[in-house]
Amino acid sequence: MSNPTRQVVDILMDLIRVSTVSPPGENYLELVDYLDRLLTGFGLNTRIIDVPKSVIRKYYPEYAEYPRYILLAELCNVRDRRIHLNAHYDVVPGGDGWLVTEPFKPVLINDRVYGRGASDDKGGVTTLVLLAKQLSELKGFSDCVEFSFTPDEEIGGLTGVGYLINIIHRPDYAVVVEPTGLDTVWIGSMGVLQVDVVVRGLPAHASQPWYGINAFEDGITIAHSLGSELKPRIEGRRFMGETATVVLGGITRGGDARNLVPSYFQFSIDRRILPNEKTDLALNEITNHIDKSRNNIKSSVDIYVVNRIEPAMNPGTRLLSKLVNAVEKVLNLNPKVRISRAPVDTRYLQNAGVDSLTYGPGDTSSAHGPDEYIHVISIMDAVDVYMELIKNVNNE
Ligand SMILES: [Zn+2]
Repeated sequence: MSNPTRQVVDILMDLIRVSTVSPPGENYLELVDYLDRLLTGFGLNTRIIDVPKSVIRKYYPEYAEYPRYILLAELCNVRDRRIHLNAHYDVVPGGDGWLVTEPFKPVLINDRVYGRGASDDKGGVTTLVLLAKQLSELKGFSDCVEFSFTPDEEIGGLTGVGYLINIIHRPDYAVVVEPTGLDTVWIGSMGVLQVDVVVRGLPAHASQPWYGINAFEDGITIAHSLGSELKPRIEGRRFMGETATVVLGGITRGGDARNLVPSYFQFSIDRRILPNEKTDLALNEITNHIDKSRNNIKSSVDIYVVNRIEPAMNPGTRLLSKLVNAVEKVLNLNPKVRISRAPVDTRYLQNAGVDSLTYGPGDTSSAHGPDEYIHVISIMDAVDVYMELIKNVNNE
């Protein structure tokens, strides 16, 4: 095994051993300190940002007792053009079903490192560390490259990139390193709207149901109408090969006893939003459809928004052509240009007007499940692509 490869494996395994599980957000300082030592050692200027407790409390009150840190590192000899590279260091819980090892005890088998976060996104973090090292060793390096390592992508990123974007100089370009696979670039991401539909009736004993109003029966009337009329209309919409979706009833609640007319029923709606839609309009569409059913039922119906994430598209086109060129040159392949079906932190940059993309080693199908892994070679390849990209940016 060559020296850089050995180093990649060692760093990645060190990172996996620190179980930075979010929620709630554990061991963040330990991980950030480790990265800070490495990057300082390569000669980068670093800064650890302590995310204010008021910000954590605002967005994730249930995890407010767990501190959040962002590591910034830069290698900047000129100030005119700035490219920002980001990866998140939090991971989803270890989960069950692992066969080759335990989630936080990484192993190397053939060319694969297994462990929670290997693909998502500690492989990305490792890529950026190695990239920083190689850039620092370049003779006559005269560009400006900024790195950030952020928490909480897995719970929405509001205390990670979402916070960072408001306190740094806006970069000219940004790449968020996520496991798209090196043959795919994401130029946008789908949004999410989650609502609870709450139906309130009137209780009565089942022996005399005419004194009550059945919230369950009214609720399924609404749910059926949503499922048979609105859902097919929404799911016929397409954007860059992806479809909008509706899932009814991920959570349902209601009813207390078999011999009572249920006075309460609720069901959830999960709606995935295409980049050419907006959550506001998606909400109106649901509300209007339910309003039309109100005449057919006696219960009252309320709609509560539980979660709302806007879709995003890259506002620029310059970075994409530079990245595509770099991938073609280094890997000899023409990358697919797609959108992500799940939200990624890139949306904060894109919605702030930064020409930014998502691209990195690993594989979304391996992320979040048991036996998550990454090919070590894909990390080395990604470093080469980013080196080429930085050269393209600075030759413009
Ligand atoms: Zn990720």
